[in-house]
Amino acid sequence: MSDCIFCKIVAGELPSEEVASTNGTYAFRDINPGAPTHVLVVPRQHIADASVIRPEHAEMVTEMVQLAQRVAESEGVAERGYRLVLNVGEDAQNSVPHLHLHLLGGRRLGWPPG
Ligand code: AMP
Repeated sequence: MSDCIFCKIVAGELPSEEVASTNGTYAFRDINPGAPTHVLVVPRQHIADASVIRPEHAEMVTEMVQLAQRVAESEGVAERGYRLVLNVGEDAQNSVPHLHLHLLGGRRLGWPPG
């Protein structure tokens, strides 16, 4: 998708702070962190959001979650815990229409989220 900012980040056409990556996924720091650790994990392939995930995306989704597990370890939040979030649509305030898993940690997170 030529006008998608996360596609541009994955392609290196926009700057980002890389945290980790795999063949199919890329993890980078959120520009406006909501916690001491706030990393976004995206598939390199464009897909809009979690509402369009189907069985054929199983490998990609597993790769995203496994990269998040690795990042949680490398960021030092795996032991105390972290939150993985997929926002879908307006009420969830989804702002970038390219699937991304938020990894939040490094402090006690409120529940339910505001
Ligand atoms: P969401 O509200 O779930 O769509 O989350 C989008 C996230 O992307 C927000 O937390 C933003 O701070 C973050 N974001 C937007 N643009 C950039 C960027 N250029 N680099 C890193 N994070 C970004």
